[in-house]
Amino acid sequence: MIIVLRQGTQQKEIDQLTELLTSQGGITVNPVYGSEITILGLIGDTTRIDSTRVESYHCVERIMHVAEPYKKANRMFHPEDTVVDVSGVAVGGGRLAVMAGPCSVESREQITGVAAAVKESGAAILRGGAFKPRTSPYAFQGLKYEGLELLKAAREATGLPIVSELMSPNDIERFVEDVDCIQVGARNMQNFDLLRQLGRTRKPILLKRGMSATIEEWLMSAEYIMSEGNENVILCERGIRTFETYTRNTLDIGAVPVVKRLSHLPVIVDPSHGTGKRWMVEPMARAAIAVGADGLMIEVHNDPQHALCDGQQSITPDAFDEVMKDIRQIAAAVGREI
Ligand code: PEP
Ligand code: MN
Repeated sequence: MIIVLRQGTQQKEIDQLTELLTSQGGITVNPVYGSEITILGLIGDTTRIDSTRVESYHCVERIMHVAEPYKKANRMFHPEDTVVDVSGVAVGGGRLAVMAGPCSVESREQITGVAAAVKESGAAILRGGAFKPRTSPYAFQGLKYEGLELLKAAREATGLPIVSELMSPNDIERFVEDVDCIQVGARNMQNFDLLRQLGRTRKPILLKRGMSATIEEWLMSAEYIMSEGNENVILCERGIRTFETYTRNTLDIGAVPVVKRLSHLPVIVDPSHGTGKRWMVEPMARAAIAVGADGLMIEVHNDPQHALCDGQQSITPDAFDEVMKDIRQIAAAVGREI
């Protein structure tokens, strides 16, 4: 349930109303003070609330019922776009945030070299996997803690904030300490225990869409994080499994306007995992910006032919530079900046 308050409502009136709403227990009230309107978002069992009594309060303009199961992630709860601050880089809002870097951190030279190159081309955040969720247990699993150290060194050298995937709840403290944004991969999108624990931190969380997840399930996963108090969630569309086998995944570009309509959270697009093909990264990056994404995540490798993971979808730093030039023009055409 959402209570829209009249303009000019005093804090004292909000407090009185909140007291009424919470007096029976089981309800939490989330006030959102927007530039135009203030609303109270109610979470919990609202069936016992006496709407007529609530409406009799002078400060109440109207009551709306939220049919969707996600509340905090719902745009009705927060009409303005959320901007997530990743160590000084805004994700959401007018500027586009491009995250770029290798699928996996492989060596100091590799990660610092790629970091410097992508920064030069205009990337705002460095990505790099230290813990890799591989289909085969015999495939390269990442440099793990050493990978995190190398990412930190690359951040130190370039000033770029870092995003990296967390796989185990046991590593949360370490990630909170080491990285600027914690990535939850497609395979863990419904690891509810992990999501809840991340909700107890205040770190920005990049929540990738599960490969078979509906948009509603994806938003419910964001809700798990937010329900514990962490509202710093960035959504990332990375392609879903369909009957099509030509591409690694089917990049659901249509999910961007849907999510923008349903939620206030920023949404970025990963055209690398979304297609699995390096030549498709540029056209799909363009499409993502044109359709309203708040940014991109792109895999960039200094030597894609010899990458230890996802070389076939990784582009070189030179190709990334071209992509950035290209998407700057698209961004300008849709009133955004990079
Ligand atoms: C990745 O970003 O390298 C990755 C494994 O992504 P996803 O979880 O989308 O497959
Ligand atoms: Mn990858």
